Amino acid sequence: MNSDRRSSSGPISVRGPMHSVAMCPICQAGLCGIRICTGDDPLVPAPRGGFLLCDECEAIWMSPDVTTAHHYPSSESPECPICHGDLWGNSVWADNQQIQSLGWSQAVNPDLDQTATGS
Ligand SMILES: [Zn+2]
Ligand SMILES: [Zn+2]
Repeated sequence: MNSDRRSSSGPISVRGPMHSVAMCPICQAGLCGIRICTGDDPLVPAPRGGFLLCDECEAIWMSPDVTTAHHYPSSESPECPICHGDLWGNSVWADNQQIQSLGWSQAVNPDLDQTATGS
């Protein structure tokens, strides 16, 4: 049943992507952030479970390149493209370490990092 899981550590409620590869070419308003699938257990990210998600229009890319084909999750029940669980519940915005383990570090555009918001 529901064990009393306390999330005492970890920034759970980050709204926007921590690291993004581009502005969204579709809606031109969102950031294509890197997310990583965690499946049912948020403490165990899938090592190959990376994808891009626009934080504005929710377009999804399966590789860190927004010129490749994208798709949209169902608006009624958006699914994680990796594990097909809940899109927002079963994946998290990837941090630097996770992006490195995906091998996507080179795709990140540091100008778009949430931590480095200039102007
Ligand atoms: Zn998933
Ligand atoms: Zn978008």
